[in-house]
Order: sequence, then structure tokens, then C-alpha cells
Amino acid sequence: RRNGESFEFQAEVSRLMDIIINSLYSNKDIFLRELVSNASDALDKIRFLSLMDKTLLSDGKDAELDIHIKVDKKENVLSIRDNGVGMTKEDLIKNLGTVAKSGTSSFLDQIQSGGDLNLIGQFGVGFYSVYLIADYVEVISKQDDDKQYIWESSADGSFSISEDTENEPLGRGTDIRIHLKENAAEYAAEGKLRELVQKYCQFINFPIYLWVGKEIEDPVEEDKDTAIGKGTSAENLEDKKEETEDEPDREEAEPKTKPVKRTEWNWEYLNNMKAIWLRNPKDITPEEYNSFYHSLTKDFSEDDPLAWTHFNAEGDVEFKAVLFIPSKASQELFDDYYTNTPQLKLYIRRIFTSDGIDELLPKYLAFLKGIVDSDTLPINVSREMLQQLSSLKTLKKKVVRKALDMIKRIMDDDPDEIISEDEDGLEDNEEEQTNEKKGKYAVFWKEYGNFIKMGVLDDSANRKRLAKLIRFQSSKSGEKLASFDQYVARMKPDQSHIYFMTGQDKNQLKNSPLLEKLLKNEYEVIYFVDPLDEYVMQHLTEYEDKVFQDASKDSLKILGKEGKVKMKKAAKMYKKLTRWWKDLLAGESIGFVKVSARLANTPAVVVTSRTGWSSNMERVVLAQAL
Ligand code: ADP
Ligand code: MG
Repeated sequence: RRNGESFEFQAEVSRLMDIIINSLYSNKDIFLRELVSNASDALDKIRFLSLMDKTLLSDGKDAELDIHIKVDKKENVLSIRDNGVGMTKEDLIKNLGTVAKSGTSSFLDQIQSGGDLNLIGQFGVGFYSVYLIADYVEVISKQDDDKQYIWESSADGSFSISEDTENEPLGRGTDIRIHLKENAAEYAAEGKLRELVQKYCQFINFPIYLWVGKEIEDPVEEDKDTAIGKGTSAENLEDKKEETEDEPDREEAEPKTKPVKRTEWNWEYLNNMKAIWLRNPKDITPEEYNSFYHSLTKDFSEDDPLAWTHFNAEGDVEFKAVLFIPSKASQELFDDYYTNTPQLKLYIRRIFTSDGIDELLPKYLAFLKGIVDSDTLPINVSREMLQQLSSLKTLKKKVVRKALDMIKRIMDDDPDEIISEDEDGLEDNEEEQTNEKKGKYAVFWKEYGNFIKMGVLDDSANRKRLAKLIRFQSSKSGEKLASFDQYVARMKPDQSHIYFMTGQDKNQLKNSPLLEKLLKNEYEVIYFVDPLDEYVMQHLTEYEDKVFQDASKDSLKILGKEGKVKMKKAAKMYKKLTRWWKDLLAGESIGFVKVSARLANTPAVVVTSRTGWSSNMERVVLAQAL
């Protein structure tokens, strides 16, 4: 070890490294994916910076942005080198040790309770996976604004940094030198490395090269030049090769030769994948989409996405996009809806520019993952300027439309399949099992139903489309969940309204005296039991020209012409009674007392006025205020 300036790892980082270096985790392969993905990020960064400053990549030191993987078998060192943006001394200190990522402690908790190390990249600490296979690591890095430095650590709680005066200058970029553990010798084999790159790095958009030695057999004349006949060193044999080629006429060569082996070293180009979104969707298999999804999201769990859409938008704003719906909503999405940022990566003419651009998607679609690659957005503007562009609005509109189409497709492919779950009585894993048996739309609705409802609140332009996606229980839905389309199809000939009521659960609503007559006369009533439904119904006034009617409000009308006449008579007849009653309740926030047609068995009931909050809304708001 060098005698550099020494630093302590941040405590959580130190704990994490401790766990990793002592881990018996069998899938050590993942380190390569993490390091190559970091190299790729660094290359993305320099390419993006060069858009603003053309001189950055025109100075000859990086004609091609790429990644080189090389093994020094004598030293048992594996090196992964990129000519990306590189790190200053300060970057090295911060990024590789002293500043813990926000996800570190939750990742620690997860792996300590048996969670999968495979997910390390998702938590922003992928680099440390290198200690699955290394007991000592050197990171040599050169960033344009600083000198070349060496970061080194044996994962013993500290790292040190020194100016690099011994290695050849990198020009720009980073070289990670991994000193392999004794039990990680397999990672010094080219075959293994080639296999790993092919398996884990197929969606990296920069060339990856591997330093490979090939055994070559050269025919050599037996009686000639025996001095180098057995040599295997490359230079030695280069000479030899030239000699033989220069020899114009070799008489009787055939019978007298015997093969001599030598090793020829070359950079082998490993990944010739074209970016998946540029390919024709017809040529892409579901497996390819699935593995692209995992690589894009760094979610290397078993969960394949629920659906994807891959499309090409033309017109004023041209772009290609691949969007995915993960099969599980991530927990962070629920932390604070309004701080969610969209997870789409934005490329402009194949160049990665940024992710998490708020203007790319509305909040309610923040659960989508994917990429958008635009041919028409201007490439050399700042993120702030980009966000102001009207063409970005057009792009967003199209992306939203395609996303909603994709969701509708899941729904259409899976009609009628949602079994309603009763709130209680299910153990967690039991619920998981019923999930398995459920159709795709049922899974979608369970994971993302609330986002669709938020969409109804936030996206007036797509409100109708979103309303179509909503599922609910009703007096006629039985075991299943129903849709507004089903409701409308089941409406009675004389029925003009869509009846609903909000409340805590189906049972409470089903037995409410407010619904007695409606249910007795076999009108379908929607039971909205989610607090969000209150807000949704403030934004939905009608569906397919049928007006929504809250059955708990005084505006409910269930009588035909004849009935109305009868009711008027009754009102007159009982005028004294209703007046007496109103006076009796004066001061109790009672608007009026009247004769009603909505009851079948119950003598009296309290309703709310058309313009006021339903009693459930009062409950919801009160619960939020507490
Ligand atoms: P993440 O990649 O999610 O940020 P990592 O633990 O993989 O988390 O990497 C930590 C940080 O170290 C990166 O964000 C980056 O700033 C820096 N880094 C790692 N590898 C490189 C590299 N090859 N070139 C430049 N910076 C790097
Ligand atoms: Mg990383």
C-alpha cells in the first residue's frame, strides 16, 4: 500500500463493505455488471458534457468512448478501464467512501434480514460489490480539472488517496484495478469474463473490449531456426512470423513442418448490440425486453415487468420510446406522491442526457420505467432550458397517451378478472398467492389503482380514459370488481343516473338505510370504500352521458312522474309533522326535514345536501387532519 492521505469510510459504508467482503453470497458475478454500469455512466457524462463544450472530445485523447477489461494473470489483477468523465480527488473521497447514499441504510437492513445482494445497484452502492471478489482495490482516476489520483482500500474501514506518479497517464477516465481474492481466481479467466459481459452488459451503449490471448499454431520448418521454435511470447513470435512470411520460396516445406503454438493478444470487441429501442419491435423477443427492463432499472429480482410498449412517434416531435410497468410498485412511490419524479431516461439522438426530468411525465405515471430517445429536441441546451420547451410538452402528451394505451391493453386482454379482496382476513403471503392466480389487470389495479385515481384528479385532458380504467365494488359486482362500462351496460331502462355511495366498507354501505329503496328496486349502487374515491368523485360528474348521483345526498331522485305527484300529496299531508320536527332540531345543523321516497323499511334517515360534503368525506378529511 502507498503512503497516501488516509480517510475513514462513512460508518454505514464501512458496515456494508464488511458484510460484502465476508459474504458467502454465491452470485459474485454481479460485481462486473456494477462496475461496467459505472463506467458507462461516466462515459454518458463526458459525452453529455461534450455537447456543451465541443473541445472536450475533439482533443484526440478519446477518439472513441469505450470500456476495456484486462487481466494481469501474474499479479492476479483484473482491470476495468473507461475513458469517461473521471473523478477529481474530491470526487474520489466523496463518491467512494465518505458520503453514504440515501439508500444505504435501508439496503443494509434488507441484506441483514436475508435480502438479495443482487439488488445492490438499485440502492446506489453498486461499486462496493467489487469486494465480493477483491480483497484490495485500486481506483486510478483522472478528471480534466485535477491531477491523476489513486484511491485504494482493503475494505478495512479506511481508504487512502495519493497522487499517481507511477502509472501511465490515463488522459481522462478511470481504471479500477481489482486484486482478486484467492477464491475468486475464476475471474481471471477470459472465458468467464466474456460470458459475464454477454450475460450482464448487453444493453451497455458503449463498446466493451476484452484483452484476449488466442493460441495460434504456426507451421515451422523442423530443421530451421530451432532457437525460437518453442517461444510463446507475443513479440518474439511477431518477429518469427515476419521472417517466415518474408521467405519467398520454401521448398519441401510440407513434410518438414510441425506446428508451434504461440499466443496472440488482441482487444476482442464483446458487445455489438444496437440500442434496443432503435430496433424493430418485431425482431425483439419478450426475453430481450425483460432483460432490458432489468438492466435499465437495476432491478435484478425475478420480477419481470407487467407490460411494455415500444413505439416510434412521428411528426413535429419525433422520438422512440420503450415504457415498462413494473409488476410491483416500489415503496418510495407511496412516500410522498408530490415529490415523485418520473423514472424515464431521456436520450437525445442516442445520447443520454438526463433522467428524472419532471416535465416528461405527470406525477400519476411516475411508476413507469423506460427510455425516450428524441430526434428533434435540441441537444445543446441546459436541463433548465429543456424543461421550458414546448416540444417537450408535445412529447409528454404523446408518452402519456401511449402509456394509457398500454394500460388499456392490459385491461382489454384480461376482461372481468378482478376478484375483489376483502380488506381483512388475508395473511400477507396468502395475498401474494392470490395475486399469482390473478389476471394481469388485477395485479395492475392492485399496485397502481391509486395512481390512476390521482390521474383523474390531476389530468383533466385524459380524465375519460382514466375513468375507464377504474375498478370498484358495487351491489351487483359480486366477487369481482366492476367497471363503469359494466355498470352502464347493466343500467335499467328507466335509469338515468349512476348511483354511488362512499363509506368505510362494503358491508356498511350495503346495509345503509340511505340505499334501501334503490337496492330494493334493483338499481346498481357503486360502493366506493377508498378515501381517494371521495376526491375522484368530485372530479367525475358523468360517464358516457350518465350523471353520477351520490345516493347519500338529498338530490337523489328515484321517482317517476306518477310517484312525484304522490310524493307532493304526502308532503302536504305531513307538513305539520315535518315543520315540528325541523323546529325540534333547530340548532343541530339541519337544513330541512322532508318526506322521502328513498326508504323502504327504516322510518327516518339523515342525508347531506347536494353541495355539502358527504358524511364519509367528513370522516376522510378528519382522519387526514388528525
Ligand atoms: P451509483 O452508480 O448508483 O451512483 P456506485 O456505488 O456504483 O453508485 O458508484 C458511486 C459513485 O462513484 C458514482 O455515482 C460515481 O460518481 C462514482 N464512480 C464510480 N465508478 C466510476 C467511474 N468508473 N468513473 C467515474 N465515476 C465513478
Ligand atoms: Mg453504479
